Amino acid sequence: MLEVNGLTKYYGELLAVDDVSFRIDEGDFVTLLGPSGCGKTTLLHMIAGLREPTEGTVELRGEDVTELPPEDRNIGMAFQSTALFPHMTVRENIGYGLRMHGYDAEERESRVQEFLELVDLPDHGDHHPDELSGGQQQRVSLARALAYEPDILLLDEPLTGLDRVLREEMREWLMTLQREVGVTSLYVTHDQEDALSMSDRVVVLDEGRTQQAAHPQTIYERPANEFVAQFVGKSTQFSGSVARTEPRPVVETGAVDVAITGEHESGEAVSLYVRPEDITVESAAATADGGVQVTGDAEPATPSVPENAFSGTVEKIANLGNRTEVTVALESGEIALANTDRFPDFETGDVVTVAFEPESVVVV
Ligand code: ADP
Ligand code: MG
Repeated sequence: MLEVNGLTKYYGELLAVDDVSFRIDEGDFVTLLGPSGCGKTTLLHMIAGLREPTEGTVELRGEDVTELPPEDRNIGMAFQSTALFPHMTVRENIGYGLRMHGYDAEERESRVQEFLELVDLPDHGDHHPDELSGGQQQRVSLARALAYEPDILLLDEPLTGLDRVLREEMREWLMTLQREVGVTSLYVTHDQEDALSMSDRVVVLDEGRTQQAAHPQTIYERPANEFVAQFVGKSTQFSGSVARTEPRPVVETGAVDVAITGEHESGEAVSLYVRPEDITVESAAATADGGVQVTGDAEPATPSVPENAFSGTVEKIANLGNRTEVTVALESGEIALANTDRFPDFETGDVVTVAFEPESVVVV
């Protein structure tokens, strides 16, 4: 449906987008995820025809559109700043897009009403944008972008600037809308929650380059590199090198040893990431009979495998409504982050044991 090949953009000396290629299948919802300044908007503008690529091509429905002006690409766009015309009513705003795409007056009228209903604003046609809430303005902007049946909908951080509750509401709504209309969509955001919750595929960008392009679950569970592991989701991080591989791989991280899984070579330098939902925290009193790893004891014959259970002090307990996030300063110096019971049986300042399975350690 959409295919970008080797898209590259220099602004003078600055390389804003560096050889990016990906494709989007018909009807899919793909998200471009990356920090501010990584080149997302530039990429979107090149796809839309609002900026000329330094190199590379854009194909829509198998046709090379790289040289076509924006109005000949049949692309719908909605942005963070909704860019509704303030002096026009909602109806006129949506109608304007239709007129630009050659719909006659009669078609315009029926389509405007159809799309007002689609975005749940059937009675708002005669309002001006400033009489609507931020969320409603976004919906008008979407109706305008969708009414002329674009081949693809480009969304540039449309939810940025909305408060948390509205944002979550809009996410749900946007997904339902996308499914109903079945429009192929490319959504741009710096918000990993947006990306993970809405997309069929996520393309992670940093410094103009693709870091990973995959299903959200793969991005979260098997990040391709350190950037993705750190940018997407929270985790506890260790780094070190593989000290031995039998009976299972063990990473020496300085103060502690961590057991991991997978095929590794001795001496390999690795970064380890453990997600908060994979970490348990118990008050040290409960585990005083064992469980805490003792390092440095001489075990003959078979090398010992560490239990991935470490002692630390609770720094912070944050009740986030649906879960509780506990921050523990480990004796080894790392900061561990765990999701726990809503009302854990320890307090800030308590000594606890933090533990996780080798299988849940992401090795990058
Ligand atoms: P994002 O949308 O991910 O925040 P942008 O595509 O807006 O990133 O910007 C990518 C890089 O290109 C940034 O370093 C930005 O400062 C730079 N940039 C964006 N637009 C221009 C421009 N018109 N002229 C010069 N540099 C630009
Ligand atoms: Mg941007």
